[in-house]
Amino acid sequence: MPGLRSLRVRVPDEAPDDWRWQLRHSIRDVAGLAARVRLTESERLGAERAAQRGFPIGITPYYLGLLDPEDPSCPIRRQVVPSAEEDVTVPGDLRDPLGEEAHSPAPELIQRYPDRALLLVTDQCAVYCRFCTRSRMVGGGLGPRPEQRLAPALEYLRAHPEVRDVILSGGDLLTMATRRIAQVVAAVRAIPSVETIRLATRVPVVLPMRLDAELLGALRSHHPLWVMTHFNHPKELTAEARAGLNRLADAGFPVMNQSVLLRGVNDRAETLEALFRGLVRERARPYYLLQADPVRGTGHLRTPLSVGLELMEALQGRLSGIALPKLIVDTPGGMGKVPVLPSWVVARTPATADEPGRTTLRTWRGVEVDYVDPP
Ligand code: SF4
Repeated sequence: MPGLRSLRVRVPDEAPDDWRWQLRHSIRDVAGLAARVRLTESERLGAERAAQRGFPIGITPYYLGLLDPEDPSCPIRRQVVPSAEEDVTVPGDLRDPLGEEAHSPAPELIQRYPDRALLLVTDQCAVYCRFCTRSRMVGGGLGPRPEQRLAPALEYLRAHPEVRDVILSGGDLLTMATRRIAQVVAAVRAIPSVETIRLATRVPVVLPMRLDAELLGALRSHHPLWVMTHFNHPKELTAEARAGLNRLADAGFPVMNQSVLLRGVNDRAETLEALFRGLVRERARPYYLLQADPVRGTGHLRTPLSVGLELMEALQGRLSGIALPKLIVDTPGGMGKVPVLPSWVVARTPATADEPGRTTLRTWRGVEVDYVDPP
């Protein structure tokens, strides 16, 4: 009947609890930010220069709702609102701190260890974290990498069966359409020598509504798939984020969390303790506490390594083994990760003809105890 089509009312299928709505309404410029946050002069300058610097602003309305619009020291705000200090270079700063460009055997593929490789499937993220190790390339505007762009990397993985563990990263692959994510995962899963596939994503933190039934249903046939996520502060463990973590665990994804140690965000033992306990409650394993990489323009967000050591010392004994991550330095130049421990070994006495060797250990209680070796 003529005219009937025009009478049909289109029911909006997108609302704030829809991930596409969140991405479409993300804050992307200084005007959008200034309308919602009382910016300091440094933040305003930083936000104005973000696009020129080649590292844009991106904040989902959901994540914006977690930050304090009146308090520049808010730990959520410090992670995503740029500041003029991003123009400051300090000694040791590097554009590509992990030497990824020098360890790239194929386009979009990074290999720094014999048995694992990282595939960069998009340069898009749901938010742009101001401490990002890949700030040199994320948010570049190219978006999801097309099939032909990833073909040489997949060919390389097929030709190198020693690579058993592939991390799908970027950017954040979970910002892509479900069909494209499933295609990429299926292509990697089809390589017989690949045993483990890891999805590196900040979506559980900044866009938890993305972890919907459609996505989990499309991925679960490709298990084992591990999710490597990135909570930095207990405020991020909202009801929505906790529900997202539980949906992942219920769908069979082991969830590992890598926190980056950041000045003014999570550099207090009480903050980390609350974060790690909260993660374990939701079946996410605090896996690494990463010393922040020396990315150019992030000196104001980094802490001296001694701070990480003091925090680990304070947390030892306070948290069980499943809640206590390793403190890791990813060494500049791409030479690999190094676990760093407080010094619990006080002295080592080698064995003699009459006496077995012994090691004097300092416990978390501060007492010294000898461990005697077998004869
Ligand atoms: S989500 Fe990850 S890749 Fe994207 S900006 Fe944040 S830290 Fe960088």
